[in-house]
Amino acid sequence: MQQWREVKARNRDALVFFRVGDFYELFYQDAEEGSKLLGLTLTSRNNGAAARVPLAGLPVKAVDEYLAKAVRQGRRVAICEQVEDPADAKGIVRREVVETVTPGTVLHDALLQAQRNNFILAVVPGPPGKAGAPGRRNGKEVVGSSPSPGRLGMAALDLSTGELTLLEIDAGQLRDELGRLEPSEVLAPRSWAGEGDLAALPSLTVREDWVFDEANAAQELKDRYGVHSLDGFGFQSDDGLIRRAAGALISYVADIQPSGLAHLQSPRILRPGGEMALDEMTRRNLELVESLRPGQTGGTLLDVLDRTVTAMGARLLRQWLLRPLVDPEEIWARQRGVDELFEGSDVRSDLRELLDGVSDLERLAGKVGAGRATPRDLLSMGRSLGILPQLVDLAASESSPYLARELAHLDVLADVRTLLEGAIHPDAPATLQGGRILKEGYSAELDELRGIRDGAVDFIAGLQVRERERTGIGSLKVGFNKVFGYYLEITRANLSRVPEEYVRKQTLSNAERFFTPELKEWEEKVFSAEDRLSTLEIELFGEVRRQVAGELSRIQEAARRIARLDVVAALAQVAARNDYVRPHVHTGFEFVVIGGRHPVVETMMPREEFIPNDLTLDESGHVVILTGPNMAGKSTVLRQIGLIQLMAQIGSFVPADEARIGVCDRIFTRVGASDNLAMGQSTFMVEMNETASIIHGATSASMVLLDEIGRGTSTYDGVSIAWSVTEHIHERIGAKTVFATHYHELTQLGDLLPGAKNMNVAVRESGDDVVFLRRLEPGGADRSYGIQVARLAGLPGDVLARARELLTELEGTHSGGGEGLGRSGARRPASEPPPGQLNFFHPEHPVVEALRKSDPENTTPMEALRLLEAMKRMVEGS
Ligand code: ADP
Repeated sequence: MQQWREVKARNRDALVFFRVGDFYELFYQDAEEGSKLLGLTLTSRNNGAAARVPLAGLPVKAVDEYLAKAVRQGRRVAICEQVEDPADAKGIVRREVVETVTPGTVLHDALLQAQRNNFILAVVPGPPGKAGAPGRRNGKEVVGSSPSPGRLGMAALDLSTGELTLLEIDAGQLRDELGRLEPSEVLAPRSWAGEGDLAALPSLTVREDWVFDEANAAQELKDRYGVHSLDGFGFQSDDGLIRRAAGALISYVADIQPSGLAHLQSPRILRPGGEMALDEMTRRNLELVESLRPGQTGGTLLDVLDRTVTAMGARLLRQWLLRPLVDPEEIWARQRGVDELFEGSDVRSDLRELLDGVSDLERLAGKVGAGRATPRDLLSMGRSLGILPQLVDLAASESSPYLARELAHLDVLADVRTLLEGAIHPDAPATLQGGRILKEGYSAELDELRGIRDGAVDFIAGLQVRERERTGIGSLKVGFNKVFGYYLEITRANLSRVPEEYVRKQTLSNAERFFTPELKEWEEKVFSAEDRLSTLEIELFGEVRRQVAGELSRIQEAARRIARLDVVAALAQVAARNDYVRPHVHTGFEFVVIGGRHPVVETMMPREEFIPNDLTLDESGHVVILTGPNMAGKSTVLRQIGLIQLMAQIGSFVPADEARIGVCDRIFTRVGASDNLAMGQSTFMVEMNETASIIHGATSASMVLLDEIGRGTSTYDGVSIAWSVTEHIHERIGAKTVFATHYHELTQLGDLLPGAKNMNVAVRESGDDVVFLRRLEPGGADRSYGIQVARLAGLPGDVLARARELLTELEGTHSGGGEGLGRSGARRPASEPPPGQLNFFHPEHPVVEALRKSDPENTTPMEALRLLEAMKRMVEGS
């Protein structure tokens, strides 16, 4: 218990799995937590005197399962092993924490998802800046906020692959970045960790501030990479924040994973403007990698696009999706690859077939680096490397410039492959103890020991025949078991004929087991050969693993190329399967899509049922007011536009007949009511926060997709806010904008603003019903058809009849007619609202009337002054 207390004192924030024989035991508070968290049975043991110690245990064999449970719930586990052989120990066996498993640093296969990176993220705040613009902060901070730091340094490491990504962001983007990386653990300095979004994280690891010091961190980085200066990695002098994050992260990880970081890759520094910024709401609203319906799998863009055949490819595609490009050159380069494999269906299928045989080289390399690779891991690495030359052959035999270029510099790692193929036995086991690891011929010493062992085993086997003959006992058997070793077994009936030199070993119900001095001698030969064999084999295996570890960066480089090929081939595959087209990506403004489809929705219905749509956003019409009743298909069109833009910017083909797409710096979306209610914010507040952040963040190079602004408040409020937001975006920002709304009143905007136009998703009325045509048409919707849609939803007839009655009344009060509301798509001057239009800004103020009547061309300065005076009086109401 004293030993345990010492270990626990040094690992207060972890559950301690304390090795006792074949079990890990948890004591005191750990036992109680373990019983709740892991479902262990809580018992207690008598600890000498009166004290009873709470206790919970789990079998060593099942440890992965319990680690998984703990880690998934954001807990860390310190694994405390017996570090000396109990047989050699004087007194109590020495124990040490050999590894701490945390959600962000797990390396166990069972705890990692093959298709996704597992990031641990370190965040370092810069000096407090001026309070950020309100929209750049999330809702919680807007209401009663504390001053937030201006900038944050971030370092994200996937320990399983060794990828290290560094970036500096505005504090307001923290949540977006958390959403994009989905780290399973976040490391932050104590003085800051209690703030904002971090405090709410399930797995926050807090370290003292000095760990994040610049000097400490820079030294840690230099030591780890064995360099004198960090400049070679592309660090600049004002990169202090990211250096601090990276250094702190690496020292933390090295601390809890003493087995090593040999596979750590060079840091990749992301610079602002190097990729499309994607905020959390857009990532969610467009359902890029996760469905809006919680817990639902499928139905995301990733699901549609992910035709990768390797885990590395799957992870990379996810990264591409969450970080679209903005540099057209880079986009074109990817497109060229997709295009070639799209056209060359034979090369594509040959390529994908080869790639299919490649295991997760990135994670295998990670395991080698961390000294965890099993014999079977190395076997599968060797087999995967065997495919590399075949890829090169494929590139040579097919005239594919893309493949030729991609594979020209592929290091086929022949030396590593030869080493592995020569060393690892084709039936190598999953653990070091599981059987034959190394091939015959790999080591003469090993082969000799095996010869000795096999000879002895053969001799013993031959004993059965010889002893049967000698004793005349036909049923005499030679056998072996783990506890008693080799024996000669004789049935009870024959006991009288047992020779004198037989020594009794074990008694069974109907037989006795014996040994002889001769058998004992041979048995010892077998055992000692086996002992030496197993020690030597493990040692030699470790040697092979170390040799491979020396070549990790080459393996990682090859893995990255394979991953890229896999993603490009997957994009070509989807494009061919789903009838996509290569978009013309350009640096101009216009967005033109002919016959566009929603990439996900179209897969959920028979192909011909999805109605394609055309849409153009250009200088002459960059704001579209999209109307149509509920259920018409507005949200679908809206998301479709965003998804096509995004797909184009990852280098993918798009679901359309034709597309010309100007590169965007950002896509903003605001769609429907979010489910943030759980976080205690009203729908309206969430909506306004999201809208504010769009207004603050959008530029003329952005795409803004708005769905139903102002729905969460009264109609007049709502329409007014939606109106002014649209005006602002139209006049001040100039972003390509589609604004879907069921307020058909807003079609006036489409007429009023020169750069705006009305479109609607058409419906046809047939009797009391509406038929959804799903077709996008110029012009605004004339009505909401709310009552017809309600009918479709099954509202009872009398309720509908009453609603109709009320509607007629309301329409009468507001417009004195109510029919044909804002039907026209033609442009009208602001002064003349179409007859009968529901007009929110009437009656006109007398000042406006006076202005309209005035004729500046024929007005003297004196008259102008008088007019001004008169208008002032009107305003003051005198
Ligand atoms: P709204 O936003 O106008 O209320 P949605 O965009 O949610 O309507 O669309 C309603 C349903 O119509 C969707 O669930 C989808 O199945 C179907 N739909 C939408 N657009 C199309 C289309 N172009 N072709 C076929 N079905 C569509």
